Amino acid sequence: MESISNRRVSPLKMTWSMAKKEWADLLRELGQPTFRSKQIWQWLYAKGAQSFDEMTNLPAALRTALAERLSLAPWAPLETVADEGGTTKLLLECEDGERIESVVIPSGGEAATLCVSTQAGCAFKCAFCATGQLGLSRNLEAGEIVGQLFTARAATSFHIDHLVFMGMGEPFANYDNVLKAVRIFNDQDGLAIGARRITLSTCGVVPGIKRLADEGLQVELAISLHAPDDALRSRLMPVNNRWPVAELIAACRDYNAATRRIVTFEYTLVDGLNDTRLCASALADLIDPSFARVNLIPLSPVAHFDGNRPSPARCEAFAAILRRRGINVTLRHSKGSALSAACGQLRGEQGTGNRERGPGNGGKNVEL
Ligand code: SF4
Repeated sequence: MESISNRRVSPLKMTWSMAKKEWADLLRELGQPTFRSKQIWQWLYAKGAQSFDEMTNLPAALRTALAERLSLAPWAPLETVADEGGTTKLLLECEDGERIESVVIPSGGEAATLCVSTQAGCAFKCAFCATGQLGLSRNLEAGEIVGQLFTARAATSFHIDHLVFMGMGEPFANYDNVLKAVRIFNDQDGLAIGARRITLSTCGVVPGIKRLADEGLQVELAISLHAPDDALRSRLMPVNNRWPVAELIAACRDYNAATRRIVTFEYTLVDGLNDTRLCASALADLIDPSFARVNLIPLSPVAHFDGNRPSPARCEAFAAILRRRGINVTLRHSKGSALSAACGQLRGEQGTGNRERGPGNGGKNVEL
């Protein structure tokens, strides 16, 4: 983290990126007792303060000093689009002009899940992901990840109680910032979003899975699998050339052993490509119900990918083969596809115009 000088730094770059220890360091620098870091944390994350002036249990001089250095200015979306079910896509512009997207997915009543982006663009080039076609621009700061929650809260009436890291980018390619954001979301003195309500989704970056297993967090893990064998998976997911299926499955089994969390395998069904009975049987051979479950998602249309959504009957037949093998299967229907908010469809566009290049899309092709 860059040093905090006597200039105001935006919340995206600094305020929302600061861990508790960094608040304590700043307070020490300002000649203040470090217990005030907990008070500030509670104002920011539990009470949702919009300015340092609201932090009335802090000395006035400290509030002034903080306001001179840091900002709590809201991050307003460039565009907000909602469908009739309440699924809402937010287009956000970072300070350097990079554009990312978040999606709010209602889950019943006032509650909603927020799908956050972790990178502007993505380098992994998964076949049916719009983000992957754009290439990687850069990693997001932890504050740019945390800030997506504040923007979503302000832009919608929902209470965000679940988070899925399934927007633009590969979370494990930005591991440190993602984990820092997870710990801020999870902190019991602040937002207090339980680890089991946070899902990290990866295309199959095995070192990230192994690292996460050692973090002492019970975060949910989702894997974009999409094919049961190396030949087909390498065609759809180039990451498979680096970490093939067997290595990926072994890492997931170890993750379950370390955390006791059931791993979710996301499998997008593409007509005639990976939705055959043979594929279903091969997938059933890979998945041990003791450590994993499967989400099946019929393909959402993506302009650059030449594939079709299978018929409901084909999807049901695929699911039935897995169920007969004792596997916990959910056949999902992607919410938000009408506004291009389904996974694999986010690409940082404004209005109807496509950007030549921009913060990537989102997409693990998983159920939102
Ligand atoms: S699915 Fe995820 S990892 Fe793959 S290209 Fe898209 S954003 Fe990147």
